Amino acid sequence: MNKVFVSALDGATWTLLQPWIDQGALPNLARVQREGVSGILRSTLPVITSAAWSAFATGRDPSNTGIYDFFSCQNKSYLVRTVTRLQVKGISLWKQLSRHGKKSIIINVPMTYPAEEDPNILTIAGIPAPHVDSQGFTHPPYLFEQFHLDRHQYRISVRLPKYEGRYGDLIADLKTMVRERLRAAEVLIKERWDLFMVHFYATDVIQHALWRFVDPSHPQYDSDSAAKYGDGLLEVFAEVDQAIGRLLSQVDHDLTTILVMSDHGFGPNRHTFHINRWLQERGMLKLHPPLTRIGWDVSGILLSRLGLTSDGMTGQVMRRSSLILGVILPLTLQHGMLHVLRRILSRFPVGSNFLNPRGYPHMLGGMNWRKTRAYSVGTTGLIRINLRGREPQGTVAPGHEYEEVREAIAKGLLALTDAHGLKLFDRVFRKEEIYHGSSLDEAPDLIPLSETVGCYFYPFLDREGIITEPERFRSGNHRRDGILIAKGPFIRQEGNLKTTDITDLAPTILYTLGVPAPRDMDGSVTREMFRPDFLAEHPVQQSEVSESAALDQTVLPDDEIKMAKKLEDLGYL
Ligand SMILES: [Zn+2]
Repeated sequence: MNKVFVSALDGATWTLLQPWIDQGALPNLARVQREGVSGILRSTLPVITSAAWSAFATGRDPSNTGIYDFFSCQNKSYLVRTVTRLQVKGISLWKQLSRHGKKSIIINVPMTYPAEEDPNILTIAGIPAPHVDSQGFTHPPYLFEQFHLDRHQYRISVRLPKYEGRYGDLIADLKTMVRERLRAAEVLIKERWDLFMVHFYATDVIQHALWRFVDPSHPQYDSDSAAKYGDGLLEVFAEVDQAIGRLLSQVDHDLTTILVMSDHGFGPNRHTFHINRWLQERGMLKLHPPLTRIGWDVSGILLSRLGLTSDGMTGQVMRRSSLILGVILPLTLQHGMLHVLRRILSRFPVGSNFLNPRGYPHMLGGMNWRKTRAYSVGTTGLIRINLRGREPQGTVAPGHEYEEVREAIAKGLLALTDAHGLKLFDRVFRKEEIYHGSSLDEAPDLIPLSETVGCYFYPFLDREGIITEPERFRSGNHRRDGILIAKGPFIRQEGNLKTTDITDLAPTILYTLGVPAPRDMDGSVTREMFRPDFLAEHPVQQSEVSESAALDQTVLPDDEIKMAKKLEDLGYL
């Protein structure tokens, strides 16, 4: 029986990996590469973990999965929600396998929370799973207990703010996290499986945090710290390499196809770009005065506690009065009052989320929608036009005006340069240039790409400046081109692969396991990976469209709050 083993690295680039492989520092990856084929695996647009792993799992691009970020904007509202697997449109590769009686073991893959309730799929969920004790973290629910694993010795990810000025501890803890992952994987790999997949998140975290120490061209590079911490990146990758080696020693290489993949590449992140500040400066985005914003926040929370809506009589009165206060009091006084209020409220547990300037409810609630033409949500610069008919208080008419606004924003972004005269953005895509799926309607209207220079997008409006220094723990950032290595009984043994799209892997894995891929997958089988004789004997087949699985699972409200916290700790909020 054919089997597939997938080792998933969150973020990896040949720029770092190939020299390390050539130096002999990653012997296990070197062996897989030597005995198989390798090439570039191209990620989704935007290049972000949630969009990329959803595309991997379903073989569909973001306009068909509906996942463009860790947060989703819903049409007809200005509400932003944290996304989970339940919002991903399409059937996962492992669900498809289950329908053909095949078993999968899926460890820590992002966007698998809450775990699918399917007897053929053993899951330990990945980010944004809120906590090891949360409902839906594993399937079966008592997976850890069943296999005598210690649930509380397992970490989904790390809390970055904890490591302020403690890079040495971060490196050590990430290595421990890899070993914890390996411990679980070594137990589960003994079970029966057709597809075994283990994901390592540590690689993403360490490249975000330490890129500045391996790249002398980085604005935050300093040789002392580089000498101290520069090896940390390789140390974490070497730990992952060893873990892969340990697992590979337990698979039958005559039957198993081995894939090593990343969801995206990596490169320097030289600036933080405050995109909503920039839109505000260009008159595209308008805020209410601070007191109006406070009034609306307070009334929103009070009213919801009382079971009332802001459209009711009380809500109207509260909103009107805060609007009037915001207009008549001087702005400096309002800013001062806001500052004091935040300090007072931060002392109370209930107040910690209240007026949180780094939160979407506060930011979007403070926007004057009747004067706003465009805004951005997420950390990849996705821009939504305040379009009439789609947004509750749309100001931009569809058609000519919509195109004009998009043109003005795209042109403005493309004209921006940094202090060295380098263009901040390589491209600004209009959604229909890159997407063709069924969720195109909900897609962001503009998708900027910053590959050459590298920019992290900061959406919130609590800081001054448009282009500022990279965030702490964000000196590296994602790139489109990641890595793919394949080796196995039917895989060619020499040469490189042309660029493979991340959506091609689901159909390719299904093909390897003799299961036809549904026609509604965007990706297709990477034929050049296979030996010609195998391809000739096994024609590629497709099955009819896979109807969506019925979803009766939910995420508890408390877990939703924890998820947002988790994403904040990882720099996604
Ligand atoms: Zn990342």
